[in-house]
Amino acid sequence: MIYLDNAGTTRPFDEVRALTDEINDRFYYNPSALFANALTVKNIIEAARETIAFKLGAEPKGVYFTSCATEANNWVFAKAVKNKRGNVVISAGEHASVYESALRLKNQGIDVRIAGLTADGRVDLEDLRAKIDADTALVSVIHCSNETGVVNDLAAISGIIKSQSRAFFHSDGVQAFCKERIVPAAVGVDLYTMSAHKIHGPKGCGALYVNPAVKISPFIVGGGQESGARSGTENVAGIAGFARAAELYGEKYDEKKMAACGEILLRELREFEFNGLGARHSGMTYSFTAEGVRAETVLHMLSDEGIMIGLGSACSSHQSGNRILAAMGKNKKQIEGSFRISFGLYNEPEEVLTAAERIKTCVEKLKKLNCGR
Ligand code: PLP
Repeated sequence: MIYLDNAGTTRPFDEVRALTDEINDRFYYNPSALFANALTVKNIIEAARETIAFKLGAEPKGVYFTSCATEANNWVFAKAVKNKRGNVVISAGEHASVYESALRLKNQGIDVRIAGLTADGRVDLEDLRAKIDADTALVSVIHCSNETGVVNDLAAISGIIKSQSRAFFHSDGVQAFCKERIVPAAVGVDLYTMSAHKIHGPKGCGALYVNPAVKISPFIVGGGQESGARSGTENVAGIAGFARAAELYGEKYDEKKMAACGEILLRELREFEFNGLGARHSGMTYSFTAEGVRAETVLHMLSDEGIMIGLGSACSSHQSGNRILAAMGKNKKQIEGSFRISFGLYNEPEEVLTAAERIKTCVEKLKKLNCGR
């Protein structure tokens, strides 16, 4: 098995699995209960909050755990635009959980503006500048693209926002957290979304950083957990596993190994066009196009051999085409021939070499047969 779809999800670290098992086994008490064992569980959550906050150079009170990043992004769009006043600006490179949330606001009559992407996949700063005005209430720009690995310059974006408006700045940091150094308060990011399962943590746990100076009302109401900001009995094992994964990520990240994986991919597949390499790049997620074949056919051929790669984000696999590659100027044929390969910390350079060789062979075969389309 060769797994190269880590932007979709990652295999949990062994230590994370051991910890979540232990918590589910021994610390299953409701953290809101009043007996002593429940307090231990509450402390597990608070320790995790401190760990995540530390990673962000933030105060623990600025971190709220959610059921996933999708929930955190929905929360921002549901609650950061007060009384439906003002316009909202997003980039064309957003994940579906931001994009669809923005479309929902649009359907409610809010003026939603979409800033375009440059050909190399960054948000077009001039277009962003033109879309923001004094009435802008919320700006949301993804930190690192889940499609191309391109990293946006949050400090530059924040400068543009703050010079023209009093808008909140939200960034979806799901693909960047633990990989890119980020101190939201230092770069003017008010709201920052994270997800555990993209950093070898468990599924079903996300978090929203909220600058303590920003007041955002709850999206999910009920028992008043998370200081009243997000109700619902906490996923204690998920939260603790998230924090453990965040701690371990930096320790386990092997810069040389990851660089070797990237070099092999680029070298072996140099006949194909890589998308988004002109911009600052994460080195973890790569998009490339083999024109003239259907990438989906290749994906299935590889899948039969135990090699798992992606096409676009798993979250948009039910939608036709790829909105983000289209915003970078790719046509339908190019999009059909586009792949996504994303590394995780468990990958080895030899696996990348094998996968790249198999991709080349499958593409050649399809081209020869002329039946890849
Ligand atoms: N944002 C980005 C950039 C993502 O890549 C994903 C997952 O694919 C999400 C949000 C949604 O994350 P979750 O699965 O935690 O809801």
